[in-house]
Amino acid sequence: MTKEQPNLFGSTGPVYEELVRESPAKYIPFLLGIKENEGYHDITTMQDLEENARSCRLCPLRDGCKQVVFGVGPQNADIMLVGEGPGQSEDEIGEPFVGKAGQLLDRILEAAGITRSKVYITNVVKCRPPGNRLPNPNEIALCRGYLEAQIRLIKPKLIICLGALATQTVVDNKAKITIVRGKWFTRQGIMIMPTYHPAALLRNESLKRPVWEDFKLIRQEVNQRGLNT
Ligand code: SF4
Repeated sequence: MTKEQPNLFGSTGPVYEELVRESPAKYIPFLLGIKENEGYHDITTMQDLEENARSCRLCPLRDGCKQVVFGVGPQNADIMLVGEGPGQSEDEIGEPFVGKAGQLLDRILEAAGITRSKVYITNVVKCRPPGNRLPNPNEIALCRGYLEAQIRLIKPKLIICLGALATQTVVDNKAKITIVRGKWFTRQGIMIMPTYHPAALLRNESLKRPVWEDFKLIRQEVNQRGLNT
């Protein structure tokens, strides 16, 4: 069962229903708490958005990485996967989820009957944080406009949040991954499923079972709605 649940764990900004009531004709940001000027609303194609990101110097992460890892996949994908940030392999190759965690993600997708090339994959931040640390709140706040715009342009039917940071960015900034994983949330008609990040599975094998349970639910939804996977 799903329900429209824009803000589960506390106040992160104006809730969706209030925004709709106050300004029905205006664009409603998808990510909670995002400001109107943060989502690159003037950019209308993914190519232009990517070009913009490639020359971005908004936060210090760009100075410490080799390249911007913007995202990969079809621009009409039904499913969008959101991780946290590029690691070393991703920074080298320029594509999200190509290192060890990415290879595990590929196996999970394959087992769930989902073709990697048919889903859009990106991260909360597009530049590699030094030493593979998590991006800090300031870096996330400066970069999340790209994710907002990617969601606006792709209009996915399902978003899978990989890990706590993606879940807190997309679902709610107070969400605890251990509590919300495996549960469906819906916002603006898009269903959102948080699950563990594949890198966490590499550190802790016992997380494989819950992730598989989560992907079984995702497969069920894909089948019911005849989504393109
Ligand atoms: S992480 Fe995001 S905000 Fe920071 S420089 Fe890279 S693209 Fe720009």
